[in-house]
Amino acid sequence: MEQDLRLNGQEEYLKNVVLYRIVFPDFWAKAFADKNEFYQSILRYAENHVKAFPNTKEYLEGEKIQLFWHEHCDFCWEKAMTSMVCEFYCTKDMRYWICKECFEEF
Ligand SMILES: [Zn+2]
Repeated sequence: MEQDLRLNGQEEYLKNVVLYRIVFPDFWAKAFADKNEFYQSILRYAENHVKAFPNTKEYLEGEKIQLFWHEHCDFCWEKAMTSMVCEFYCTKDMRYWICKECFEEF
């Protein structure tokens, strides 16, 4: 039997963790409106980036800030972006992201 190449020990750190369902772009729209923790974490990252690269300052304005964020599915590397229409599952600390397909499969 061939081994599924997407499996690479994730079950060790994803065992018994609670996963949160995230739907983009709605999740981003709400984060931007509420300036919630997700928005703040992107803001912190963006501000550090602009400190290092002042010519990227314009990206701190309004919704452009979302360009600083993207994640990949921990299994298949599918990309998650705030502007994409997609459904992902993530851990509470938002460290690990899993696409809908892999979530249903594993
Ligand atoms: Zn996936």
